Amino acid sequence: MKKIYFTVGPAQLYPTVDEHMRTAIAEQIGSVSHRGDFFESMYFDTAQRLKDFLSIPKDYHIFFISSATEGMERTIQNCVEHESFHFINGVFSQKFFTMSQQHYKDAKSYVVDISKLRDYNNITVPKNAEVIAITQNETSNGWMFLERDITAIKKSHPNSLVAVDIVSSVPYVKLDFSYTDIAFFSVQKGFGLPAGLAVVIVSPQAFEKAQYMEKQKTLIGSYHTFPSLAKYARDGQTPETANVLGLYLFSKVLKDMQENGIDKIRQKIEKNAHKIYDALSIHTTLTPLIQVPEHRSQTIMVAKGTALSEIHQRAKKNNLVIGKGYGEFEDTQIRIGNFPAHRDLDIEMLLKVLK
Ligand SMILES: *Cc1c(COP(=O)(O)O)cnc(C)c1O
Repeated sequence: MKKIYFTVGPAQLYPTVDEHMRTAIAEQIGSVSHRGDFFESMYFDTAQRLKDFLSIPKDYHIFFISSATEGMERTIQNCVEHESFHFINGVFSQKFFTMSQQHYKDAKSYVVDISKLRDYNNITVPKNAEVIAITQNETSNGWMFLERDITAIKKSHPNSLVAVDIVSSVPYVKLDFSYTDIAFFSVQKGFGLPAGLAVVIVSPQAFEKAQYMEKQKTLIGSYHTFPSLAKYARDGQTPETANVLGLYLFSKVLKDMQENGIDKIRQKIEKNAHKIYDALSIHTTLTPLIQVPEHRSQTIMVAKGTALSEIHQRAKKNNLVIGKGYGEFEDTQIRIGNFPAHRDLDIEMLLKVLK
């Protein structure tokens, strides 16, 4: 009996992945050259589809990298000469912040109080912050940043680059990319694909910063710099031997999701999130970790409580896998990934297990 994964990532595979994997084997995708016509057209097609699907401006760059963690590092290396500013709302944003320090940048931060509702567009950001780093959807605790706050932050800091981690909210997140300079995600969460591929979306303003730093002879890396990625992207290629299979599967699932329609996908996520939070709210041993409804993630539900091993047991009996709490909260919290890959039937089963 197949399991249904309600983990936060790697997560349940999108229902069509099975079939695309079989086609990939039949068509010998694993042996296709990353310098040939097939790959080139697949690259261009996927980048264009992603732009259409998420409404990304035409002049933005789409680069393929290996992980979201790499996306954080590329952001620091390519766009921060001296100083970065980080909203810290959980473990992943903390990692982004630490990475800036590891590069000997002057990293400053604002620690979000996840129990309160407030506007984040009136926080004092240092004038010299070159990058304002935001983890839009904290996978560690299920706290989400409102999209409109991100837009407002860019509007009031037009000279800073706003970098947004959208790993566990894409494609649900309704980010206005014209007010986002860098956004990155890996494909093993919301897109329901095997891990090993990630995307970084780069605005012209962020790209110019990397070019400027390169000209100043500031170290921006060597293997995956924004300029080196762009140089290859012009020919539909990547500097290294690409994850050809990963890109193939991504292109196929992206096409399937496009046919389904982004509005429909978003509505489904919201409808299911509502049901799951309702179930958690009336549960006898669980409560949602995030108390402020506006900041509750629609894709990552975290609940704290007791008798968690019984819940995991009951899930197992029904062939469901529910995520454990992050790190030190492994035994006191559960995390549920609510992604486009889940069918109505799966959600009904989850609700039954939670009852
Ligand atoms: C999973 C996750 C990451 C790390 O992704 P990798 O692909 O493993 O590097 C970063 N940020 C957030 C918010 C995540 O959920």
